[in-house]
Formats: sequence, C-alpha cells, structure tokens
Amino acid sequence: MRPWREWGIDSYLKYKTDIFFSTRVKIIFFHTLSVIVIVLVTIGLLEYVQRAILSGVVESLKNIAAGTTSTTGIGIFEKVDEEIRLTQFLVYVSVMIVSVLVGFIATRLALNPVRDSLIVQRRFIASVAHELRTPLAILKTQNEVAKLDADMTSFVGETLGQNVEEIDHITEILNNLLLFNRVDTLESIVFDTVNLETIIETVIARLKTLAEKKGIVITFERTVIPHVYGNATGLEQMLFNLIKNGVNYTPRGGEVIIRCTSITEREVTLRVSDNGIGIAESELPHIFEPFYRTDSVQEISSGTGLGLALVFEIVKLHSGKMRVESTMGVGTQFDVSIPRKPQDMIANQRSHEVGVGYDFSQQKNL
Ligand code: ADP
Repeated sequence: MRPWREWGIDSYLKYKTDIFFSTRVKIIFFHTLSVIVIVLVTIGLLEYVQRAILSGVVESLKNIAAGTTSTTGIGIFEKVDEEIRLTQFLVYVSVMIVSVLVGFIATRLALNPVRDSLIVQRRFIASVAHELRTPLAILKTQNEVAKLDADMTSFVGETLGQNVEEIDHITEILNNLLLFNRVDTLESIVFDTVNLETIIETVIARLKTLAEKKGIVITFERTVIPHVYGNATGLEQMLFNLIKNGVNYTPRGGEVIIRCTSITEREVTLRVSDNGIGIAESELPHIFEPFYRTDSVQEISSGTGLGLALVFEIVKLHSGKMRVESTMGVGTQFDVSIPRKPQDMIANQRSHEVGVGYDFSQQKNL
C-alpha cells in the first residue's frame, strides 16, 4: 500500500500545478463548508426557537395556574404553532440565501480556469502571429529585391515569384488568425450606427485591382439602404471576405453583384451573389468551418479557409442572420441580415426563424 505521506505530497503538487484539480478541490471544499453553515444555522435557529417556545409555554402555564391571564391551553398551542411556522420560514430563507451565494461563488470558481486559459490562448495566438509577420515581411522584400537581378535564370526568377506568393499566403493566414482572435472579445468592440452604402463602396475600391486582374466586374446595385447597428470594421471585413470570395471563385468575365434585397422594421438584408463555380450541396454545411476549403477550389486559388469562419463570427456577433444558396456551375449567393437598432439585436436573439441556411440569432445551423 502506498504510504499516506507520499499520497499527500502527490496531491499537494497536483493541487499546485493542475488548475482543474485545484478548482475541483476548492468547489468540493466550498460546497462542504456551505452544507456545514446551513446545518449550523438550522441547528442554531431550532435551538433558539425551542428555548423561546419552552420558556413561553412555562411562563403561560404559570400564569394560567396563578389565574393572572385569560389565555387557555389551546391558546398556548396556537402560539407555539405560529412560532414553529416562523422558524420554518426563517430556515427556508437562510438555506435559499446560502445556496444562491454558494452557487454564485462555485460558478465563478469553476469558470475562472476556463476564462484564464482562453485569455492565455488568445494572447499566445496574437503574439505568435505578430512575431511571424515581421520576418515574413523581410523575407518578402528580400525575394522581391532578388527578383530585380537581370542576370538571373528564368527558373530562379520563377522560384522567387513562387516564394513571394507563398509568403503572401502565410501572411494572409496570420492576418485572418489575428482578426479571428479579436472578434469575440466583446468588450473591445464598439457598436454604433453604420452606413452600409459607404462600407460597400470602400470594399469595392479595396478589391478593384484584384477584380481587374481576374477579369471580374463588381457591381453595386445602388438603392437607399438605412443605417444598421453594428461594428463598422467588422461589417467591412465581412463584406470584404464575401465579395473577395465571389471574385476568387468566379471565372474570368463573370460578375459579383451586391444589392440590398430587403428592408424591414428590424433588419437590413444584403445579398452578395456571383455567377461562379458554385458550391456542392454536401459541402455547404462545412464552408463556415475554419480551414475548410471545397475540393473544387484547391487548384483555382490559394485561400486560407478562414474567410467565411470570420464572416460567421461577425454575423453572430451582430445577432444577424445568414443564408447561403449555391448551384454548381451557376453561382452562389450569400444573404446577410443585420439588425437596425440595439433593441432589434436583442429581439433577434430571442426570436426563432426557420429557414434554409444559417440563423445566427439562434446560433445554430438550421
Ligand atoms: P478561402 O480562403 O478558401 O476563400 P473561405 O473561408 O472564405 O476560405 O471559404 C471557404 C470555402 O468556401 C472556399 O475555399 C470555397 O471552397 C468555398 N467558397 C466560399 N465562397 C465561395 C463562392 N462565392 N463560390 C464558390 N465557393 C466558395
């Protein structure tokens, strides 16, 4: 049998190093303590009331015997019954108060390690991504400078060009990881009234060069779009990712169209559609998963598989809704609905709409 001393040292070390073990111990300890408190309070109250009742009864009986009171024997029992009820009530109330307090502290204790590890994980991702970006930028510049050498063979020139492309790809993954990392730190995200028309124009201007290079026309079918309530940077990133995908996955000569398809009291719906390669029905449920890329695009373009995952998080953050429809070889359309006012966000969180696609107001895949 293992000596107790050794077991004690092992447990102590585990308590000091394993945060989940120490939390379990703390919660068990705390819970036991609360049960002891409840039992002591109950015993104390019962003891006190028992004494009070007894002395009351004795006093009343003495008075009855001496004939100095009009109270009868039945009157004494009624009084005792009343006091017992009062004690029961006090015991229930104190048990409830202690239980609520214990529940509150136990939840905090249980969630602390989860919250702390999330913070550590987020900081770790952010610092790794930041650390990697600088050497990548230097590598890219060196490759681009080397490419300027006129004496270089075409093979070396091609290799350097491919290096630059790969560096751009890794940088894009890092940028997306950084954005992804930041997206659900709600406290740091400011919500305000947002003009979607301005945002759409900005995004189109940012993607103009890429679209021209790929021979794609981006059209914004302008109508008056009411302001929505959201985070401008997040919504710009969301539209950027959707429109960029349209450009990337549409063959030369194709078109990406952005239009507002519905304006209701509560929300504005934008549609980003293209006449590109489309997405197979079996792959639709997966495209919002981080790093997921459909089979058909692996050779067409070197994406990161993080763009739509980020769109997913941004729409969720806005308590918005999202639907996607696609036909292989015909095209794809993404509908995004964003609430117009803060109260609409809350209403969306409560409502349950059934439809095809993704309804983030319920945070589930329908
Ligand atoms: P990526 O960086 O690969 O574009 P995304 O997360 O933006 O990553 O998209 C995930 C996958 O969904 C893409 O790789 C592609 O297979 C598919 N996809 C997204 N948008 C479209 C679109 N408009 N047309 C066809 N396929 C698309």
